[in-house]
Amino acid sequence: MGQIWEILHKPDTVVFFDIDGTLTSYNYGDHHAHHELDYTPEFRDVNIYADCKRLNPIYEYIQSHDVNRLYCISREPHGHESWKSEMVERLYGIPASHCFYTLDASKKPEIVKDKIKELFPDIDPMSVVLMDDNDETLGLYMKETPFCTAHPMIFMENL
Ligand SMILES: [Mg+2]
Repeated sequence: MGQIWEILHKPDTVVFFDIDGTLTSYNYGDHHAHHELDYTPEFRDVNIYADCKRLNPIYEYIQSHDVNRLYCISREPHGHESWKSEMVERLYGIPASHCFYTLDASKKPEIVKDKIKELFPDIDPMSVVLMDDNDETLGLYMKETPFCTAHPMIFMENL
């Protein structure tokens, strides 16, 4: 039996959320999941986060948890960091200062380990949950960190 749902709801648990596909539905385009201008230079000037919708099951969880224990880690190759952070703060109340970015998803485990060491040096690694919709990233987290991992579909399972 998976224990992640219970762990997520313990008050001391620290969660690092991926953003695209975890705190958003990843349906950015008109007829595609990717925005139609993705992979073009013009994409840098498009704020795909302006009309993202709050995902209520995740929002309810976030509302019930200590926001000082909620963070975001996201790959961002298009210079959309400030729009993305603004969306996270507006829709979920997670402060922009809790959002960290990397150009390279394979650096996520290292960044999270450093942040945990800095912010929660004495925490039990089983009280940290790294949530991501990307299978490769979840695998890297499992291999390279001592923390728990979860896929965001867990919120659909427990509606
Ligand atoms: Mg993602």
